[in-house]
Amino acid sequence: MDKKKLIVLGGGESGVGAAILAKDKGMEVFLSDMGHVADRYGRILDEEGISWEQGGHTMDIILSADEVVKSPGIPPTADVMRRIAAKGIPVISEIEFAGRYTDAKMVCITGSNGKTTTTMLTYHILKNAGLNVGLAGNVGRSLALQVAREQHEVYVIELSSFQLENMYDFKANVAVMLNITPDHLDRYDYKMQNYVNAKFRILNNLTPCDAFIFWQDDPVIQSQLERITTEANMYPFAREHHDDTHAFVDSDDDLVFDTSGTSLSMPRAELSLNGLHNLYNSMAAGLSACLLNIRKEDIRKALSDFEGVEHRLEFVAEIDGVRYINDSKATNVNSCWYALESMPAAAEPGIVLILGGKDKGNDYSEIEPLVRRKVKTIVCMGKDNTKLLDYFTGKVPEIVDTHSLDEAVKACVAHAKAGDTVLLSPCCASFDLFNSYEHRGDMFKEAVKSLRS
Ligand code: ADP
Repeated sequence: MDKKKLIVLGGGESGVGAAILAKDKGMEVFLSDMGHVADRYGRILDEEGISWEQGGHTMDIILSADEVVKSPGIPPTADVMRRIAAKGIPVISEIEFAGRYTDAKMVCITGSNGKTTTTMLTYHILKNAGLNVGLAGNVGRSLALQVAREQHEVYVIELSSFQLENMYDFKANVAVMLNITPDHLDRYDYKMQNYVNAKFRILNNLTPCDAFIFWQDDPVIQSQLERITTEANMYPFAREHHDDTHAFVDSDDDLVFDTSGTSLSMPRAELSLNGLHNLYNSMAAGLSACLLNIRKEDIRKALSDFEGVEHRLEFVAEIDGVRYINDSKATNVNSCWYALESMPAAAEPGIVLILGGKDKGNDYSEIEPLVRRKVKTIVCMGKDNTKLLDYFTGKVPEIVDTHSLDEAVKACVAHAKAGDTVLLSPCCASFDLFNSYEHRGDMFKEAVKSLRS
């Protein structure tokens, strides 16, 4: 019998992992990347004896595939994807592919915001409880690579809507939906329902033995649950206990987890992560741990000693009495809302807020009330700040137009006084001035630290 021919599109972490797993399973594999494959991935592919190309796609090889594994970054509208679809070749994601070769328990986390934080926090709890656990998806290493070479008993997987798009038979054991607010609408024909549908694919194939953990007060999740059914056991969480809530804060300000296996409470003040959004993230992670029968002491301890994730409300420094906070990962309006919400209210607005970058169809009205209450100066930092200037001029005491990180930090220094907070929480993707949100956050931290000298 001929070997199965698998084409992998995209030579990043997930694509290289998928290629290795396919090779280990005896398939004929070819990896193709339109752009540049990082040197370290090129080296791995060579060492593994996997054929690959970069800087373009050789279509006759690609169109001879039995199946294609696509990197989540490639949109279905790309020319190569249209041609693959026209030929009727099935396209799957790396997670779908890897899921075929493991019986490990899968804790899958999605949502518009908080995925990485909740994924890392859940992993932290399980790892510290002594489980043989792998971290995969958008954070961590390729699931396919770990399935091929490490074989963990449990995986905690961060799933974006892009990854979920090409998942069909994959099944989670614990599925987590943190929230749904508009994001990536440029990729979904500017139709919110298309984005919601992609997110809800996390419920595919759940059985009565599986669990669905979700934020009960999210209006989008609520209305979607009225339209669809799932066989999974439902574990809603909310700030206050109402209808069958399984994690909530009680009148003593204790965080309570209540599942059939575990009943646990801990003072909210002991959580290591601050802010309302992180309360929800802690609830989702704690519930997942309860459902995996982690001991109460281990859950409590891990929720209170988790150190947080870089570029998410990360404290950088206090210089001349001004606190600098890096929330570069706030690439949409909702995450900036939570950042502003988590800042202590002061008698007078004391936040200098850096906004701007590549706008993904943002509606700034969501943050307007908090901006009016807490922000004294908006520093716009982007190639083209017209939309921000048009929206916020007259709504804050000061607004400044800048076009580079250095200019923006200089403006912050000029406008912040002792007691104020400079917050980089830009609501936008970083690609106009930076390579990535990490690059933006790193440059910001460097610029802030250099203010000391
Ligand atoms: P994601 O992986 O979904 O992008 P992150 O954990 O990286 O989420 O956080 C992204 C941004 O969203 C950060 O700015 C963070 O402060 C904010 N955030 C984190 N958790 C939540 C939440 N539950 N709801 C809203 N915003 C959040």
